[in-house]
Amino acid sequence: MPIDPTQPYDPDNIFARILRGEIPCNKVYEDEWSLAFHDISPQAPVHILVVPKGEWVSWDDFSAKASAEEIAGFVRAVGHVAREHGLVEPGYRMLANIGAHGGQEVPHLHVHLFGGGPLGRMIA
Ligand code: ADP
Repeated sequence: MPIDPTQPYDPDNIFARILRGEIPCNKVYEDEWSLAFHDISPQAPVHILVVPKGEWVSWDDFSAKASAEEIAGFVRAVGHVAREHGLVEPGYRMLANIGAHGGQEVPHLHVHLFGGGPLGRMIA
């Protein structure tokens, strides 16, 4: 079910539970601001999710309300994970599904990193 953007943050969404350590994940990176782990249903040879630790649903509220430190920390974490997984050369894709029309299923902001081989024009 796509998320309903009018609803408040759901503290029991699956990524919130992963961030609290209630559900395991295949972690690849963690710092003060972010957690990154392998997608449970990979759509590419490398498919990693990078999640900010704050309670953000959409890029809109994150970009408008998160601190500059938090935004910088998250953006740097995405770049770090891409570098650490050898994605920079020959390239990769980053994607965030936002809201109902974006097809966002988990109501906690996350960036998908796809790589490890040639990608099609779009991954839906
Ligand atoms: P979509 O499912 O349309 O890609 P999202 O952008 O909200 O929507 O992505 C949610 C992603 O989270 C999916 O790629 C899904 O496979 C992944 N996912 C769901 N549960 C887990 C989990 N427990 N561990 C790792 N990845 C998960």
